[in-house]
Amino acid sequence: MILVLLGAPGAGKGTQAEALSAATGAAHVATGDLFRAEISAGSPLGVAAKEFIDAGQLVPDEVTINMIQARLARPDAATRVILDGFPRNPAQAAALDAAYAASTRAIRAVLLKVDRAVLLERLTARRVCPSCGRSYHLLSRPPKSPGVCDVCATTLITRSDDAPETVAARLANQLAALDSVVDLYRATGRLAVVDGVGPIDEVQARLAAAAAAAGLTA
Ligand code: AMP
Repeated sequence: MILVLLGAPGAGKGTQAEALSAATGAAHVATGDLFRAEISAGSPLGVAAKEFIDAGQLVPDEVTINMIQARLARPDAATRVILDGFPRNPAQAAALDAAYAASTRAIRAVLLKVDRAVLLERLTARRVCPSCGRSYHLLSRPPKSPGVCDVCATTLITRSDDAPETVAARLANQLAALDSVVDLYRATGRLAVVDGVGPIDEVQARLAAAAAAAGLTA
């Protein structure tokens, strides 16, 4: 099955998808991580995507859909996948449905619901490890030593698209598109909603229950 984890920027998709993947063994596929890997590698796709990402905009659908289809064709994604950050608009959702129309693979969605004020606060307090990708929050999930990754000891950074002037643009651009994707899964009876506010382990337990109800178990 494919579990689509939906949520605004800052809703905790990355952190929660990582935990759900560890608990269930399903592959965690995150478009943001795929783009950041392309940018670090300096590939033509990365160079093209960076311009949009730094402006707080979505990367064009054609580029994104081709990239995700190539990733989903890899062997570790053959049975169970948690999709994090895709689809982000109705055209991408339609492309995903079309890609699996002839298969028996179920596509279900879970929305991590978080209010806009909480999203703004979370995004500006986010720090990430540029080496292993782990995410921190200055207040709710600080690193053990200030400014340093717990896992690999690399100096933490603020993502360029988490800069305060970019955060407001990202939210404005992406919330409307998210609403239409949520509507699409709701209208087809494939949506569950989970409260994304609260301690990380409580949200994790709520998400695990919703994922299990949708058919993703360990
Ligand atoms: P994320 O790490 O999921 O917040 O993604 C970082 C940035 O990558 C987003 O702000 C977008 O610019 C871009 N991005 C990620 N996923 C998608 C997608 N499905 N479609 C278009 N752009 C995307």
